[in-house]
Amino acid sequence: MTETIAVIGAGQMGNGIAHVSAQAGLPVTLVDVSSDALARGKATIEKNLERQVKKGAIDAVARDAALALIGTDTDLGAVSGATVVIEAATEARDLKFKIFSDLDRLAPAGALLATNTSSISITEIAAQTKRPENVIGMHFMNPVPMMKLVEVIRGLATSDETCARTVALATSLGKTPVEANDYPGFIANRILMPMINEAVYCVMEGVAAPAAVDEVMKLGMNHPMGPLALADLIGLDTCVAILDVLHEGFGDPKYRACPLLRKYVAAGWLGRKTGRGFFNYKGE
Ligand code: NAD
Repeated sequence: MTETIAVIGAGQMGNGIAHVSAQAGLPVTLVDVSSDALARGKATIEKNLERQVKKGAIDAVARDAALALIGTDTDLGAVSGATVVIEAATEARDLKFKIFSDLDRLAPAGALLATNTSSISITEIAAQTKRPENVIGMHFMNPVPMMKLVEVIRGLATSDETCARTVALATSLGKTPVEANDYPGFIANRILMPMINEAVYCVMEGVAAPAAVDEVMKLGMNHPMGPLALADLIGLDTCVAILDVLHEGFGDPKYRACPLLRKYVAAGWLGRKTGRGFFNYKGE
């Protein structure tokens, strides 16, 4: 089945999902409340496709064909023409609840309703609709065009058909789907976020500077990127949001966000997207 995609949220994840969908030959509408975010998202896709052309990974014809498949809209009503909606808006529970109750009104019957949430309960998001069997987690990794993994997360009411359709879609986008059940943080962030948080505690307690913490994890554990550079890439606000979901969901103090992480977010030092986090990206 050829799907027609709507991606909600044109931030770093949304534009990546639109990019790989169009590259797989699927028509995409990118929807965001902010027209500036849409313009930035489209420009990022153009830049990233151009980089693939320069590397010889694709030719100019493929680049132009992908770009021609991507439309933009500031109105959520644009989902009326989609067979698949992938929500990749800001990681906030109430915001996602509202989007899914709106999608229930606006998306066609039978549409697959996926969320790229990093940690919020798929079961609770699905419960905002009258069609929870069609709702599923489709958790892409950042940067989407480069990373193979898609975690596919079943809510309590997700049907086998929805799961099979999501696995087929992820595969058709060139990704490797891995299935998980719905518990806070699923697999990826349940393991990753406590590591990032512990790295921030090391900085706060003066064990070592950020560069030293990252160097130990790269050279000692063979990680391609240190935990603090990865936190800057993910966005420190998103890291705090995920830790809060883990903390609340399990009721276990081991998931409490490090005060230094909260302080950076309060200062607006959100990582790469604001030019400063544990490292400085100004001028890049
Ligand atoms: P981002 O801050 O880069 O982008 C979020 C976008 O959502 C913004 O452009 C914002 O304008 C838009 N938005 C807010 N409210 C909206 C609404 N009501 N309708 C439409 N658009 C709206 O965030 P991001 O890093 O792209 O994260 C998006 C989602 O993907 C989150 O759920 C996050 O947890 C998840 N995720 C992030 C990463 C990562 O590494 N950053 C990885 C996997 C999953």
